[in-house]
Amino acid sequence: MKITILGCGPSYGVPSLTRGFCECDAKNEKNIRLRTAMLLQDKEVTILFDTGPEIRLELLRVGSPDLTALCYTHSHYDHMAGAEDVRAMMREKDQILPVYGTAGDLSALKDQLSYVLRSAINKPGFRLHHITPYHSFKIKHVKLTPILQQHGNGISIGYRIGDFAYCTDVHSIDEKGWRALQGIKVWVLGCVSSSSHNQKHLSLDTAIQWVHRLKPDITYLTHMGGRMDYDTLCRELPSYIRPAYDGMVIDTNKKTPHK
Ligand SMILES: [Zn+2]
Ligand SMILES: [Zn+2]
Repeated sequence: MKITILGCGPSYGVPSLTRGFCECDAKNEKNIRLRTAMLLQDKEVTILFDTGPEIRLELLRVGSPDLTALCYTHSHYDHMAGAEDVRAMMREKDQILPVYGTAGDLSALKDQLSYVLRSAINKPGFRLHHITPYHSFKIKHVKLTPILQQHGNGISIGYRIGDFAYCTDVHSIDEKGWRALQGIKVWVLGCVSSSSHNQKHLSLDTAIQWVHRLKPDITYLTHMGGRMDYDTLCRELPSYIRPAYDGMVIDTNKKTPHK
């Protein structure tokens, strides 16, 4: 499978309007982070995960590929605000895109798009499919298992696909979730800050503890805020934990051993 990190930024992006690059080196392009989204490609299947406010730019950067499906992790602004860009693209292509999410997240999507969905001249472009944690589903030959994650006072969905998993916007996972993740080799994991004061996301020290518990071959950090300088992380983290960057491509078949 080919994974493309479309964006690995926090909800406010890096640089942010108020804090700029914060502790990140502004001269390093890898510290410019659009809002978090990911593309998974396997044979003829291309699955988009989330549609944040910069999804148009993110998809243009990778040549605007034909999408097979869209999966949502949750409905926060930084993961769903660009939904209309994708829906309008499908409508213009006269195609229907299957969209997967929890009942709550798809309800939030319908609310967000109500003004276009009501209009007779706007065909839907999306077909919504409810998912339930731990009830696996298939998009053509690709099997996905949704994993329930705690994210502040709400929930988000992680996805396991074969020996790969995508877990962003998470601060805790229960035992069932840990069992569902057992045996993964490649992990994309959300980690917002090197400080430990966050009620919604993993801090760096907890992310490292999680990696040592699950022991995937390699973990890539995403959803990184302004305290997470790329070169500093590369220097200080063990080789089996790497910061992602926008545009990073991961071949899940090429793994480095966990040491
Ligand atoms: Zn987020
Ligand atoms: Zn969130």
